[in-house]
Amino acid sequence: MAGEPQADCLFCKIVTREVPADVVRETETTVAFRDINPQAPIHVLVIPKVHYPHAAALAAAEPQLAADVLREAGEVAAEEKMESYRMVFNTGSGAGQTVFHAHAHVLGGRGMQWPPG
Ligand code: 5GP
Ligand code: ZN
Repeated sequence: MAGEPQADCLFCKIVTREVPADVVRETETTVAFRDINPQAPIHVLVIPKVHYPHAAALAAAEPQLAADVLREAGEVAAEEKMESYRMVFNTGSGAGQTVFHAHAHVLGGRGMQWPPG
């Protein structure tokens, strides 16, 4: 169920520290940690501590929490001294989503092309 911890969810396990991660920021409602397979010199994931399958489901159920994730993404960018960065929410396997716990990718530290692949 949305908002409930999922036993088989990797990111729920990162929230509880069952799975270790390089955590860069934590708030009451969010955790930010470095991606294990970075696609840019700086690649941090920001997640809500509670489980939603993707960003839109999170925003529909808990808009304030979705705002927390966005604000934290901005804080990560500021801490990493990125003036330009890309925030990405892959949604659905066809768009490259592999972990079905809502997360923002914060990518930067290099030039970015548009459109993305
Ligand atoms: P998605 O493909 O769902 O948009 O993003 C999932 C991200 O999680 C990928 O970029 C992947 O590299 C990252 N990832 C997968 N497993 C782990 C892990 O165990 N630890 C960390 N820090 N990142 C992970
Ligand atoms: Zn989860």
